Amino acid sequence: MQGLMTPRYMRAGAVLPGDGLFWETVLNQSDVFAFNTVHEGKGGPFGAQLWLVHESQEKYVLVGTGERLEDSNAVVSTGRASAHAEAESLCQENRAKVVGFLEGHRDEGSGGIGGWRVVQVSSGESCPSCRAKQVVFADELIGRGLIAVDGFHVVFKATYGQTRMDAGFNDEPYDQSFRAIAALNVLESSDGLFGLEGALQGAGQWALQARAGELVYIPVDWVAAGDVSDEIQGLFGQAGGVPMAVVVRADGSILSVGREGRDVAGDSINEPERSAIVSALYEAAAGLRALGRFEAWDLEGACLYTNISDIGPMAYSESLWYNLSGIKVVGEFVSEAVNESARELPGMGNAELFKQVAGEYDSESMPLRVSYGGDPERASVAHLLWKAKMRMEELTSDQGGRLVELGKRGALTIELLDGSAMAFADLVQSSTQSSNYDGKQG
Ligand SMILES: [Zn+2]
Repeated sequence: MQGLMTPRYMRAGAVLPGDGLFWETVLNQSDVFAFNTVHEGKGGPFGAQLWLVHESQEKYVLVGTGERLEDSNAVVSTGRASAHAEAESLCQENRAKVVGFLEGHRDEGSGGIGGWRVVQVSSGESCPSCRAKQVVFADELIGRGLIAVDGFHVVFKATYGQTRMDAGFNDEPYDQSFRAIAALNVLESSDGLFGLEGALQGAGQWALQARAGELVYIPVDWVAAGDVSDEIQGLFGQAGGVPMAVVVRADGSILSVGREGRDVAGDSINEPERSAIVSALYEAAAGLRALGRFEAWDLEGACLYTNISDIGPMAYSESLWYNLSGIKVVGEFVSEAVNESARELPGMGNAELFKQVAGEYDSESMPLRVSYGGDPERASVAHLLWKAKMRMEELTSDQGGRLVELGKRGALTIELLDGSAMAFADLVQSSTQSSNYDGKQG
């Protein structure tokens, strides 16, 4: 367990297929791309790409179009807390393209597997929510016989620690709860996730981390049908064997309802947005965004009720972002049929999938080959720009306050040596409007 107090990235040492300099270049390009999206004011400082690689043919194919080569963070524009760059690049459209490509190139390798590999490039270390999506997609491709068992790679530039230091985003506490789940063998116990809170509180280091905000988890508890409102009981009664989730505000009003809607026999195996818990959270955030709330993902301590007792890693990691007070499983409405339909990867139990997402990068349970491609001494340029922009906003606001204070001491005009005069505020604010300083000599 001591090892888990070390940063996760220290075990991200997988070797990438093909030319190392090529990956170094595209990895840094994802950072440059993120820099530009931040510069344009379009979103958070993260970028991602999806590649197909055939090592012996020395072929690198970018999963993109001429109009859309790369993806960026879309949290602000969508109001969804997990619309990270990797998740955007693993959208349904791109996943379908990858499957189609690999099916059409089966004959380019041996043993029916075409010799192609998938590489997700990300400017920042993936959070557990993105990692869950990577794991499910990797499992899906391996299960379809389209890539080898070690055929899905992830390479990132900035670690959690660098991202926290340089840009002020901290994904590590969310990931730390996943690492604790693995390290404390929570899923091997008969209580599963229901035992998480007790396991954390019983383990000194983890309890300390949770109290310090270094480990963020959402408690999962049982609740009896008699302890929920008639309205919620009615909804679960109608759901029957269909997985369902209901987000309920602290005042008891219902914020959203999500129902399982994936077509697992068709092409939507890996569509969390159509599963019960994730769709309920998306809908809750969309409702708040429609009311004009910027931080629409902050559900202000709402509670999520569900009839799923075997909660998967996609749903659980998603729920961590929404400031929920808890997940409550209504015992009377749980059934094998519900849990079966709520499997995030058909054919695999959610506890098993959870272990794949929670495991260390180099553990046997992990179906991803993860590489740290950054430099501990060099920050992401997108992160530096983001931080500068945040500081600039603070400074502009502080300067405005100073002007107000100075104004209280009398009208502020400054004289210039040429005999003219100007309002002091025009000097203080001009530096944000005018930057055409070309030096003194012509
Ligand atoms: Zn993420």
